Amino acid sequence: SGAMRERVRIAIQKSGRLAEPARALLSSCGLSWRESRDRLFCHGDSTPIDLLLVRDDDIPGLLAEGTCDLGIVGRNVLLERASGYGTGEVPPFREWRGLGFGACRLALAVPQAWSDSQAAALDGLRIATSYPALVSQWLKERGIAADVVTLSGSVEIAPRLGTADLICDIVSSGATLAANQLRATDIVLDSEAVLAGPVAPFGDARAEIAGLFLRRLDAVLGLRD
Ligand code: ATP
Ligand code: ZN
Repeated sequence: SGAMRERVRIAIQKSGRLAEPARALLSSCGLSWRESRDRLFCHGDSTPIDLLLVRDDDIPGLLAEGTCDLGIVGRNVLLERASGYGTGEVPPFREWRGLGFGACRLALAVPQAWSDSQAAALDGLRIATSYPALVSQWLKERGIAADVVTLSGSVEIAPRLGTADLICDIVSSGATLAANQLRATDIVLDSEAVLAGPVAPFGDARAEIAGLFLRRLDAVLGLRD
């Protein structure tokens, strides 16, 4: 990332929930791209801003290593990665703007049969999640000694399988929870798609390019007065 660059690279999701709205937002900021053959890299036409099309989970790492300069990713994914940095270690990326789409919540969910007092006493219980760093931080802040069981998928089935007592997962409608006889209790994180960028300023032509882009973005988002 130490190399001087005269173009800005924005990583977005290649396919999935954030792919189309991210492209639409960038287009409404006046960006356009040459049709790319490989569909992984799109060269900016009107502005020196290129696109990198990747898996959402790869975006924090690409930012950290400087392969991309900016990224559009769920706050849930960005903060999970940021929480994974140890104490005294500062993540090199941070949220620059909330983008107002891709809204969802990371929430605890317990078996429907549990009473409210049962759901409030989590010490010694096992929580299945794909967000171990965020959940561990949330538990620590509340002084709760629960065990975090990391699963990469099908988290909501863990209580029925006996792999965990409760879960912490992304919830939007609650239909998946209901289908698994679970109900949401505490919200661990309110999430939406965010523009992520470096903590340190760009030391080359990217500063001006990114600055111009941010002004256009803020106008589109209606943040400018
Ligand atoms: P990829 O192939 O890029 O890894 P993915 O399957 O991990 O894709 P998506 O399901 O497309 O990711 O979700 C991307 C982001 O959309 C999530 O990280 C989250 O921020 C947001 N999101 C919004 N609503 C939901 C939902 N109901 N379930 C999951 N994610 C949601
Ligand atoms: Zn993903």
